[in-house]
Amino acid sequence: MQLVTTIAEARAALHTARAQSSGSLGLVPTMGALHAGHLSLARRARVECSIVAASLFVNPLQFAPGEDFDRYPRQLDADRTLFAEAGVDLLFAPAAAEMTPPGATTFVDAGELGSRLDGAARPGHFRGVATVVSKLFHIIQPGRAYFGQKDAVQIAVLRRLVSDLNFPVELVACPIVRDPDGLALSSRNAYLSAAERTHALALSRALTTMQTRLAAGETRAAALVAAGRAVVHAQPGIALEYLEAVDPASLLPVETVTPGTLVAIAARVGHTRLIDNFVA
Ligand code: AMP
Repeated sequence: MQLVTTIAEARAALHTARAQSSGSLGLVPTMGALHAGHLSLARRARVECSIVAASLFVNPLQFAPGEDFDRYPRQLDADRTLFAEAGVDLLFAPAAAEMTPPGATTFVDAGELGSRLDGAARPGHFRGVATVVSKLFHIIQPGRAYFGQKDAVQIAVLRRLVSDLNFPVELVACPIVRDPDGLALSSRNAYLSAAERTHALALSRALTTMQTRLAAGETRAAALVAAGRAVVHAQPGIALEYLEAVDPASLLPVETVTPGTLVAIAARVGHTRLIDNFVA
């Protein structure tokens, strides 16, 4: 695996790789601190593409002042080994000044979608995501880009981005990877104390409860959401931010849960904000 840190090096390396292989190029964008969720994206890209590029960039544009940008886990050496083992050919790990040079005045606005659900709690977050993902698409020019279903709002925003701005990229949404007890893997799980980790299980428990009710025939969104909320509220140490059943493209609430409806949850456990979801 080749590691490059500048845009010029990335372009040169991909130029060479493309000259040697006519197949598709897959991109796996990450912020590092890799876990099995990230690696599932890389492995899938390895199976489906002839060239696999990954990016590792803790994007300052998607963190609001006061969020965890400064303490976000950074472990380039370990990540480098993990990406290589997963079969990544090229790792693009730019410094902040390379990707977000001071003085830039052009940004990609995610519009109304960017202010729903996580966007409501994190103003500006999806503008930062949409801007940096657009830059990565321009730099790497992938035919496919792999994202986790865990960040379902991000998927909705990026599907619109690709459609609205005519990027010739196929977005591939990959299933959520969980710990055996149900907790969705996240780089931010590293912030949780042992007690907080137990509290955090209420997110997946709420979703499982809703899935059980749904399987038993309850399709009214309000009833399902009430059942999920009750699970979270019964658990001390966790503050619910949202729990909603929404259309997966518009992110607007639905009254009836049908196949494809996105049921998404966000909650705070201590200082850590966690998200999870399922698609009905
Ligand atoms: P991040 O480094 O948090 O920006 O995540 C990079 C990519 O990995 C995103 O597309 C995430 O949705 C995806 N991802 C994060 N956690 C998981 C998980 N538990 N399962 C599957 N994909 C994930």
